Amino acid sequence: MDLVLATRNSGKVEEMRPMLAGIGYSLINQTDTQIPSAEENGATFVENALIKARSVAEATGLPCIADDSGLVVQALQGAPGIYSARYAGEEASDADNNQRLLTALAGRTDRSAFFYCCMVFMRSAQDPTPLIATAQWHGEILNEARGKGGFGYDPLFWLPELAQSAAELPNKTKNRISHRGQACEILIQALNATSTA
Ligand code: IMP
Repeated sequence: MDLVLATRNSGKVEEMRPMLAGIGYSLINQTDTQIPSAEENGATFVENALIKARSVAEATGLPCIADDSGLVVQALQGAPGIYSARYAGEEASDADNNQRLLTALAGRTDRSAFFYCCMVFMRSAQDPTPLIATAQWHGEILNEARGKGGFGYDPLFWLPELAQSAAELPNKTKNRISHRGQACEILIQALNATSTA
């Protein structure tokens, strides 16, 4: 059966496809359809993930997986949070967002931060029992970008225990330990538990 990956973010698609390869669905990218992005007007990652999944399930009549994720910085009272993709403005690039983050943290000693991911599976737009998985990935914000891999804030996200930025990690390593990787693992377990129940 087909399942739509409800995201237009190519960085996420690249990460999520291999993670979800074994779930027994044939994956369709939202980017390969004409379905526009839903307005993310929730106040939390969970609400926005449900909004995305529901709108794509509605438009396609197919089950969907959506993720809403972002960077949460303690010294910035949780910003950029749910606004991570548009921190420097509606049309902001990753470079613009990273620059705004560096400016906001200039002179700050508390550089602790975490990525948060909420990943949901909805069987249909009316599904009253979506599967919801959340996870965090903790690190620190660097003073300058390092590494060429990943996307978004990866070049500024330092992992002290690995002495690498997220953008320096091999894809497989990031997929295994990241917020998205962890949430995906939890979601797959929930999917397996439901389908065998
Ligand atoms: P969303 O597509 O509305 O969920 O926005 C997610 C935004 O959070 C992305 O555009 C990135 O700026 C940021 N983000 C989420 N996950 C990651 C990640 O794994 N690495 C770097 N940035 C991320």
